[in-house]
Amino acid sequence: MTAPFLPFALPEIGEEEIAEVVDTLRSGWVTTGPKAKRFEADFAAFLGDPALHTVAVNSATAGLHLALEALGIGPGDEVITTTHTFTATAEVVRYLGADVKLVDIDPATLNIDPAAVEAAIGPRTKAIVPVHYAGLAADMPAILAIARRHGLKVVEDAAHALPTTSGGQLVGTLGSDATVFSFYANKTITTGEGGMLVTRDPALAQRARVMRLHGMNRDAFDRFTAKVPSWTYEVVAPGFKYNLTDIAAALGIHQLRRAHAFQQRREQIAALYEAGLAGLPVVPAPRAPAGQTHAWHLYAVRLADGAGIERDRFIERLFDAGIGCSVHYIPLHLHPYWRDRYGLQPALFPHSQHAYERLVSLPLYTRMTDADVQRVVQAVRQALAA
Ligand SMILES: *Cc1c(COP(=O)(O)O)cnc(C)c1O
Repeated sequence: MTAPFLPFALPEIGEEEIAEVVDTLRSGWVTTGPKAKRFEADFAAFLGDPALHTVAVNSATAGLHLALEALGIGPGDEVITTTHTFTATAEVVRYLGADVKLVDIDPATLNIDPAAVEAAIGPRTKAIVPVHYAGLAADMPAILAIARRHGLKVVEDAAHALPTTSGGQLVGTLGSDATVFSFYANKTITTGEGGMLVTRDPALAQRARVMRLHGMNRDAFDRFTAKVPSWTYEVVAPGFKYNLTDIAAALGIHQLRRAHAFQQRREQIAALYEAGLAGLPVVPAPRAPAGQTHAWHLYAVRLADGAGIERDRFIERLFDAGIGCSVHYIPLHLHPYWRDRYGLQPALFPHSQHAYERLVSLPLYTRMTDADVQRVVQAVRQALAA
């Protein structure tokens, strides 16, 4: 008897989420409305900062686009981000006609290297987009200091970072211009598809609210619930269709309540991996500094130089043992679009390239049992020994 396939990721959806979705379906209001508003209010409360504005959107990609649009990024501008990320982080810059300047990572954390950011700043640079890779905070004190020195905006890609802390403060409250979370199916909380833009800047929040719904200055729920005539609105810009549905928000309301418990389980699994992999030719996933919270969206290990097996072959062996893995990420500089547009070569990003060639993300999700983790550890051991 072979064990069933252990997938790389699975969401944890409970009865509360299901009941809330059913309630939404029965309510007669399925698009953006009372549940999306409640999810926004709950999210601000979760982050615990009364000065925060929260704007629910249908993806983190949408939220990043809206944040950069609201900051006025456009043709002729340049935005600095890490090559070691998902393409969504960078593609939104191109939506706006601006250019992307990719930089290398710190090999200790796999996060964007602040020194590389500072070295990449030029006359066209307008913003920095750090990514909290795997759920470990990027070096935000250094990045915010660089931004202040050079008059740059900062938008955090926090797709992996709920909940993550830096200097004891939750990501979302660190003082950047905007922070964007993802609720994609495999993220630490999910609404199927969804995201949240968070900012202390009321003008940025207002612009994002207008642009998330066609550039209209009143949304449908406002119009149908207000006392003034419901048919009136003004189009003030050619906006987008980025609003989060109440069906999705219904999931988010209950997922958010479980976010701390989910993080604790993810941290336990990470600790089991670290203990189980000790002594093997594998570099464990970087930990957060003492006292800080790592969201543990991913558990990404690197095969050590003495591992005696190629990464691709290693993943095949794990797959043959019934275990799903992934690689985070194929760096942007290797993808044809980014490589060709900017004439990029691996030698420009030695740390990201070195990591990429050795990286494997092991399964990490709350529905895994301790026995599942031990099974992965065993399979890693056998793949390395074979
Ligand atoms: C998932 C992810 C995104 C995009 O999130 P969506 O909600 O799917 O748009 C952006 N950046 C990073 C680093 C991600 O992992």
